[in-house]
Amino acid sequence: MRPSNHTGSYYAASLNKETNYPELRGDHNADVCIIGAGFSGVSAGLHLSELGYKVIMIEANKVGWGASGRNGGEIIGGFSGDDAMLKKYGSDYDDLIWDMRWEGNEIIRKNVEKYSISCDLKWGYLDVAIKKRHMRDIENFYEAMLSHNYPHEIAVLSKQKTIELIGTNEYIGGLLNMGNGHLHPLNLCIGEAMAAETLGAKIFESSPVIKIDKTRKPRVHTEKGSVSADSILLTGNAYHQFDKKMKNFIIPVNSFVITTEPLSEEQIKIINPEDIAVCDPNYILEYFRLTGDKRLLFGTRINYHGANDEYIKRKLRKKVLRIYPNLSDVRIDYGWTGKIAVTINHVPQLGRLDSNIYYSQGYSGHGVNTTHLAGKIMAEVISGSMERFDLFNKIKPIAIPGTHFFQKPILALGLMLYKIRDLL
Ligand SMILES: Cc1cc2nc3c(=O)[nH]c(=O)nc-3n(C[C@H](O)[C@H](O)[C@H](O)COP(=O)(O)OP(=O)(O)OC[C@H]3O[C@@H](n4cnc5c(N)ncnc54)[C@H](O)[C@@H]3O)c2cc1C
Repeated sequence: MRPSNHTGSYYAASLNKETNYPELRGDHNADVCIIGAGFSGVSAGLHLSELGYKVIMIEANKVGWGASGRNGGEIIGGFSGDDAMLKKYGSDYDDLIWDMRWEGNEIIRKNVEKYSISCDLKWGYLDVAIKKRHMRDIENFYEAMLSHNYPHEIAVLSKQKTIELIGTNEYIGGLLNMGNGHLHPLNLCIGEAMAAETLGAKIFESSPVIKIDKTRKPRVHTEKGSVSADSILLTGNAYHQFDKKMKNFIIPVNSFVITTEPLSEEQIKIINPEDIAVCDPNYILEYFRLTGDKRLLFGTRINYHGANDEYIKRKLRKKVLRIYPNLSDVRIDYGWTGKIAVTINHVPQLGRLDSNIYYSQGYSGHGVNTTHLAGKIMAEVISGSMERFDLFNKIKPIAIPGTHFFQKPILALGLMLYKIRDLL
């Protein structure tokens, strides 16, 4: 595979700083070698560097090139599969799992403050309801949050309040949560990588890993270099390239995002005066928010496998106009796609391939906060603390041979089934 530059996203066009790390050449040594520099790899690398480990990160393309630099930038609380974990472990683990739901958000908050990362971070998030059953879920969740002493402002909103907040009557109410939020994910990812670098981590770009010698002290190989390390961490997620077994653990799903041109003050006053992120509860969900320079960013899934930005813009614009018909004159400036790693049981996969080769992947579209939690948990296990890693590791990944090969028909069928479930 030839290394690529960033995709043509709004984020790539509004980078604070383009990274230009060298290719890996020659033989190197590290305590930990991380393969993939998205949020999972960078977060683990930063935690390990803070703990004093000698870290080398190897990225096939550029830091944040994958889903981490393409996503909606919505900091959602919780992680996918948390209900399945609670069911498996029972009420004794309720507090431990509950606390992990918000930990990724707090890690982001801490990193942005501690390392002065400029990434348009804003707190405020609205889960909207489309049907009565969604409103019931919201009310139940609100009660659960109160009973767990959730530390941030939360409120159940009526239809009228929701209209006042986001200027559309598409929804029948919502849950406002000031502990969730939104940000510019590529600038966060690069800012965190640079923070790790200041603590001694070495980063190599344009260096796809092609194999690992699984010896007592494993060695990672790229075309022109190698790294020998006590521990290896694989974080290629939906873009993982070389290990067949790992590829079968997840289904790579295309997801799509557009942004408009910057909106006027009057438009912002109507559609999102409080600058909060919005997300609906459907399986094929739609989410939207304002960017730092006040464009409307909108994302969803469609049954499309290409990357033609004009097609993506056209398809998603129709959905924006359903919610905001008053934006019909607004230009769509960017459209792009990225791959989400979906797991069969929706539980993130934090596990081990070999005694000292670990992996972290499969956040099922819910990764901005979860990758930050996962990075911390992977740093814990590498530094000898197993408890939280084992909670995930004991839920073994369900492999589906050929998911990459049969990706298109599997996804088309999945999308159709989920659409039907959303209609019920
Ligand atoms: C369009 C889209 C919208 C999304 N919106 C949201 C959202 O709003 N909120 C949310 O919480 N989540 C969202 N997600 C999910 C979230 O972005 C991901 O869960 C998260 O970014 C995954 O991070 P990662 O580091 O595990 O993977 P990635 O960011 O994909 O990074 C993997 C990296 O590994 C590298 N790599 C792969 N193989 C090799 C190799 N052999 N050698 C070296 N490097 C390699 C790749 O080049 C890549 O840079 C979205 C995802 C997409 C695609």
